Amino acid sequence: MTDAPSNLFYQSRNPRPFLDRGEGIYLFDQSGKRYIDGSSGAMVSNIGHSNPRVLAAMKAQMDRSTFGYRLHFRTEASEALATKTAQMMPGDLDRVFFVSGGSEAVESAVKLARQYAITQGQQSRWKVISRFPSYHGCTLGALDLTGYDPLARPFDPMMRGMPKIPAPATYLDRDNLTEHDRGLKYAEMLREKILAEGPDTVLAFIMEPVGGASTGALVAPDSYYGRIREICDEFGILLIYDEVMTGAGRTGRFLAAEHWGIVPDIVALSKGFGAGYVPLGATVAPARLVEPILDAGGFLHGFTYAGNPLACSAGLAVLEELETQGLIDNAAAMGEVLIGRLQGLMERYPFIGDVRGKGLLTAFEFVADRDTMEPLPVGLNAHSRLVEIAYEHGLITYSRRTRGGVAGDHFLVAPPLIISEAQIDEIMEILVESLDAFAS
Ligand code: PMP
Repeated sequence: MTDAPSNLFYQSRNPRPFLDRGEGIYLFDQSGKRYIDGSSGAMVSNIGHSNPRVLAAMKAQMDRSTFGYRLHFRTEASEALATKTAQMMPGDLDRVFFVSGGSEAVESAVKLARQYAITQGQQSRWKVISRFPSYHGCTLGALDLTGYDPLARPFDPMMRGMPKIPAPATYLDRDNLTEHDRGLKYAEMLREKILAEGPDTVLAFIMEPVGGASTGALVAPDSYYGRIREICDEFGILLIYDEVMTGAGRTGRFLAAEHWGIVPDIVALSKGFGAGYVPLGATVAPARLVEPILDAGGFLHGFTYAGNPLACSAGLAVLEELETQGLIDNAAAMGEVLIGRLQGLMERYPFIGDVRGKGLLTAFEFVADRDTMEPLPVGLNAHSRLVEIAYEHGLITYSRRTRGGVAGDHFLVAPPLIISEAQIDEIMEILVESLDAFAS
């Protein structure tokens, strides 16, 4: 391919080389240069690239049909994927609504919550409390829930301005509380917000169980999760877990919620659910929420491509791969190895202030001062500088600002769940070369 002016645009003009092919944890550009996919794209390619069993399942489906509109036909692929998804979900989460991406999964979760409230005679409930920082998607509804100023503020008058509470950033706290009490302190902020807004106006609370690109793999204290569940129950507020990034095994359990024994009321899935083979997502809820909506005349929502058989055949093969290859357990084991290796870097690089994560969603935070956690100057663009250096060295990563887009930097390492310890060492070798270049 040439570098002639392109008809295509995304966020900006795209200076990247042309992709040729992928294989396992590696990607190759058209010059033959090899890259380790250290961020699984954007935490998507969980089972690696060009998995032969997923490709075979897709080819078999292609030979039969690629599309049958869901109002005209059922398909075996979508029924089978819904069944498999329900089996893998915790608790009573067994009704599955397919979509084609993460923003769609979040929008669907909110509309499902709202329609359920109406069936219960609770029309006054419409506010969805979310957290700052957070990321829930770029459609206007999902963006309204997103706590990331540079993406959201320019569109402000077009959104409702949903209430937000701080996401727990315990690494910034300088109080004398125990981890346990800090978790409760942050959960209490939800209770206060609900009371301030008026409990009968609040429909739902949405959170990423482990922060994604907005916070850099931030995990809350254990006590936070159970207390949030209790507060939602106390006020009859639906708890939505946005597991678009954390779901489908990334953190070492199928849902991150399982680490804390939480069963949310509604879960949004995407990214690793289609694992880069197809655009696919799902909104999953229990029958007790879905059946009243169907009884009352139906869910007023749907996307044309949702649940198409080609996407579902791939999704089913992805879930089977997670199970038969033991990839979720591998994510848990390799995540511990990776976190240990990243912690080892702190000795050599004083600007690494905090290492965190769960399973294979890991990150470190750049700081100017480890004691105060003062961030590096915004103008330094530390996160994007290191991403570019690592890219040059053949390691692909994905990073953003940490503190709502206005300050702070993190660097995410989130390789495919198929990774081995030797391949983690390959990542670390390139990372050290890149950090040395960054520091110099
Ligand atoms: N929620 C979370 C937690 C995400 O990380 C993302 C994507 N980064 C989304 C929602 C939106 O997903 P999509 O880009 O597929 O619409």
